[in-house]
Amino acid sequence: MNKIIDGKAVAAQVKAQVKSGVEQLAGRGINVGLAVIIVGENPASQVYVRNKKNDCAEVGITSFEYALPESTTQQELLALIEKLNADDSVSGILCQLPLPEHLDEKAVIGAISPEKDVDAFHPQNVGHIMIGDYTFLPCTPAGIMELLSHEGISVSGKNCVVVGRSNIVGKPMAMMLLKADATVTICHSRTKNLAEITSRADVLIVAVGRAKFITADMVKPGAVVIDVGMNRGADGKLCGDVDFDAVYEKVSRITPVPGGVGPMTRAILMKNTLSSKR
Ligand code: NDP
Repeated sequence: MNKIIDGKAVAAQVKAQVKSGVEQLAGRGINVGLAVIIVGENPASQVYVRNKKNDCAEVGITSFEYALPESTTQQELLALIEKLNADDSVSGILCQLPLPEHLDEKAVIGAISPEKDVDAFHPQNVGHIMIGDYTFLPCTPAGIMELLSHEGISVSGKNCVVVGRSNIVGKPMAMMLLKADATVTICHSRTKNLAEITSRADVLIVAVGRAKFITADMVKPGAVVIDVGMNRGADGKLCGDVDFDAVYEKVSRITPVPGGVGPMTRAILMKNTLSSKR
């Protein structure tokens, strides 16, 4: 059996469904549009924004790019968001993070209308996730849940361990697993005996940001391992947080990097944009 969970293939299916949904709306004269704001010249952010534009083109969503200079003030950025909030041709708004240091990320996220917040970072949408009643889910954890479900992997009653507690991955991931009836443990940099905890995981989800951080001795035989990490290895190649070759031998299923979680994150952004209220 092929142990690799092919995120690219599942993402292609999600995008095909989105494309068909966009076409149906177009048939009723409704256009779906995504506004992407990028401030400054962060090369990684520029790649992400380019990918998002390509994804929009692939599924028929109109993309509006706002590439603002590094010198953009908080006031200018908030004024743009206010304009986009009121623009009916814009279904979703996304501000690429991280922002330059002089800008207040929290205030920017809070300024985006919760109804257009396709990243699901607005506190109102975060609150909805806690309650388990939501319009938008953050793209990466939602993509992981979709991958698991597509592969027929139920988390109900399973020991699920999430390594990483960021607002965009770890915390919402834990909430979604909980909603799906998993028994969830969240680990972070202060966690003691990490290997002991990860070794008990039936499903191990890793979002740390350190190349090959999870080694084979930290994984339970037969576990499902989901690698969120995107790092550059010593050879300059993209790699995950999991020591893939060594861990592969031990597990039942595993996501590769690249080609695992990343494509799903992008596909869910398209799905969220389609599902935003208009
Ligand atoms: P953050 O840097 O915000 O969070 C990293 C988390 O890892 C923190 O909670 C931190 O703990 C924890 N951590 C750091 N060191 C250790 C350690 N030694 N032991 C246990 N936990 C540790 O990262 P993100 O969540 O934003 O992203 C994580 C990774 O996922 C990155 O590589 C990022 O590029 C990637 N990513 C990939 C996406 C995709 O689509 N594939 C989407 C989003 C992110 P503490 O809170 O205590 O500091």
